[in-house]
Amino acid sequence: MNWNIKVLKRAAQATLLGSSLVLGLAQTASAQDPYRYDRYNRDSAKRHQKEEKRDLKLHQRLERDEFGNSAALRRHQKEEQRDLKRHQKREKRSFDGRDRWWRP
Ligand SMILES: [Zn+2]
Repeated sequence: MNWNIKVLKRAAQATLLGSSLVLGLAQTASAQDPYRYDRYNRDSAKRHQKEEKRDLKLHQRLERDEFGNSAALRRHQKEEQRDLKRHQKREKRSFDGRDRWWRP
């Protein structure tokens, strides 16, 4: 059981890390054009967060297929959902802050 949770946690971290990496690259690429940057980035942040949610859903479905729907898995998935929410809240805040900063 312990081993399962360790594997699950590592998989979850890899998923979230991957998403952040993609977002970081998108930010770097769009930083070239400060005028379009603002709107483009807010839209892409929304799209990005939708994708993150979809990724998590898919990931959790695969987990249920692989490990079965146990109490431990449910606890783990709840944690993941909480982590994603916290992550997206922070992300959104940083985008909003950036918007204000760029606006004249
Ligand atoms: Zn998971």
